[in-house]
Amino acid sequence: MPGAASGKHEVDVVVVGAGPGGSAAAYHLSRHGVNVLLVDRASFPREKVCGDGLTPRGVKVLLRMGIDPDEPGFERVKGLRIFSRKVMLELPFPQLEEFPDYGLVRTRLDFDELLARRAEKAGARLLEGTEVLGPISSDGYVTGATIRDAREGGTGPTGEIRARYVIAADGASSRFAGQAGVRRDATRPMGIAARRYYRIERRPGPWLEAWMDLWEGDAQLPGYGWFFPVADGRSNIGAGLLNTFKGFKDLSAQRVFDAFVRMLPEDWNVNDDTADGRVLSGALPMGMNRSPPALPGMLLVGDAAGMVNPCNGEGIAYAMESGEVAAELIHDALVTGRPGIAHMYPTVLRQRYGSYFHIGRGWVRALGHPPVMRALTEYGLPQAWLMRFALRFLGNLTDGPKGDASDKVMEALLRLARAS
Ligand SMILES: Cc1cc2nc3c(=O)[nH]c(=O)nc-3n(C[C@H](O)[C@H](O)[C@H](O)COP(=O)(O)OP(=O)(O)OC[C@H]3O[C@@H](n4cnc5c(N)ncnc54)[C@H](O)[C@@H]3O)c2cc1C
Repeated sequence: MPGAASGKHEVDVVVVGAGPGGSAAAYHLSRHGVNVLLVDRASFPREKVCGDGLTPRGVKVLLRMGIDPDEPGFERVKGLRIFSRKVMLELPFPQLEEFPDYGLVRTRLDFDELLARRAEKAGARLLEGTEVLGPISSDGYVTGATIRDAREGGTGPTGEIRARYVIAADGASSRFAGQAGVRRDATRPMGIAARRYYRIERRPGPWLEAWMDLWEGDAQLPGYGWFFPVADGRSNIGAGLLNTFKGFKDLSAQRVFDAFVRMLPEDWNVNDDTADGRVLSGALPMGMNRSPPALPGMLLVGDAAGMVNPCNGEGIAYAMESGEVAAELIHDALVTGRPGIAHMYPTVLRQRYGSYFHIGRGWVRALGHPPVMRALTEYGLPQAWLMRFALRFLGNLTDGPKGDASDKVMEALLRLARAS
């Protein structure tokens, strides 16, 4: 719905940002018949810097939105191929009851549009090209947002949206939630990463590829690299690092990316001539590093809530899952007339992700120590059984207490984390 930024709108729920988190929230609310307005400053399709990779966890939430993973545009992958100086290991995704055994790759250019249109089809009104300027508050409650037409260089008419609930899904910078009083928790991890598309002959086949050690000559850089196959024949190549890594302040995503590309075999032809577009970089807010995740009248989802998994840098699945959780709670609150239900959101997030992210934060702090990182790449990576377990644990892929021995070890670790 273009060109509706001016004037006043009244809805049950306004969702700020139509990335995966916002579109999932809008979809699940609309599915329940709730009157939702989904607002994005961009007009779709729009680019979003990302690795474009979905693990089985991401596929599961996609299926919950009724999206067909066999439609053209999706590239199916069956697992992770890991490289280090010492090893090359192929780790198929596990066979589980709770998750499919495959992942997907799709450019965010059309993935995000697909989700936004899906939400629209379910009944949400999508307001594109509309910037949300800030929250409207009344008596300590967030009750809406001011908006402006973003298409004429941000000088278009302004308007406002009044809503019973507001969902902030405006991504990693989340200025909207910031204006309402949400802060970044600097003790929790943050990643930065850069990626570029290439048109080259070499393809990873049906695998997500990850490089666990990056080198600049003989110096090991604290970072990781990826090489993901895109359905249109291009490859998404990128690299990133975490702020828990020693030397983080002296490095940039671009430098780590350049080092990674230089490491790749010359005959793969990953260079400026085969590049399609520029190197783009962005932040990955991890381990629930925003606080609080809800204010009276407003719930934060996805990157706005710092929901990226610190263990593997996956953010799409967690954005969509938190969007669904927020939608279900708001729906229950609306149906029962009890706002307290929506305000249970932080507790539900803590119950669902608290212990796992607690371990994840410890994991990335440990990786930040060069001797730990070296020991892992030297002695851990060559152990196939250990890496199979790591794939499950770091991907948060488990059948829970009813599962096999690996699941039981995971459960025990999560119980320990809960107790600590
Ligand atoms: C380089 C890189 C690689 C990554 N690779 C992967 C990967 O392979 N797999 C994975 O799962 N995750 C990956 N991630 C993380 C993933 O991209 C994010 O976690 C995910 O996009 C979060 O979704 P979201 O809906 O919360 O936010 P976003 O996708 O950022 O969407 C936010 C939306 O809000 C809109 N918006 C912002 N401000 C306003 C405003 N004021 N008014 C209106 N609209 C607004 C934006 O236009 C945008 O559409 C990567 C991140 C980076 C930076």
